[in-house]
Amino acid sequence: MPYKMTEARREYNRLWRIRNPGYHKQHSSVWRKKNRLHKNEYNLAWRQGVTDTLRRLYGTSCRICGLSDEASLITDHIREDGGKERKTYGHHGWKSRAARNYQPDHFQTLCASCNQSKNFAHRRALKAGLTPKLRPFGNGGLAWEGFRDLGWLERQMATRNADLRARMDKLTRPNESKPENMDN
Ligand SMILES: [Zn+2]
Repeated sequence: MPYKMTEARREYNRLWRIRNPGYHKQHSSVWRKKNRLHKNEYNLAWRQGVTDTLRRLYGTSCRICGLSDEASLITDHIREDGGKERKTYGHHGWKSRAARNYQPDHFQTLCASCNQSKNFAHRRALKAGLTPKLRPFGNGGLAWEGFRDLGWLERQMATRNADLRARMDKLTRPNESKPENMDN
């Protein structure tokens, strides 16, 4: 402090504040706003840095269809554990972790469209009681069996039913009595 906080100085400051009402409030709010902007810019730059690293590590274009429009690209959790990761590490935390440690069996770059179709194939298999299996697609991408194949589930069910019928036939053949309504 360049000067001593004398009684007179304190009194002067008090009177100054009375003469200039709202000055401190206004200026500190300006400062806060400025600082917030600065912080936002910093955060934005930081996030952009993380995104750049993710692209460099996991692909600068969609691993399945090849789309390279940055606005459409995301980092996909290959084994659909994104929800769990977001919960554990936070919305940005999981990304910085993925950027810090290269985990090619955990992450891949996909476009939003392929990502959605991949999720769909996963949910559809689970709903039908089937175990989703990863298969290679496109340029080194991974997606679940039945990816973008609308007839897949029907064929799976038909195969499963045929297997079931064959097994039932085998079981019932000795006494030649075939159970009815096997199609249901
Ligand atoms: Zn794609």
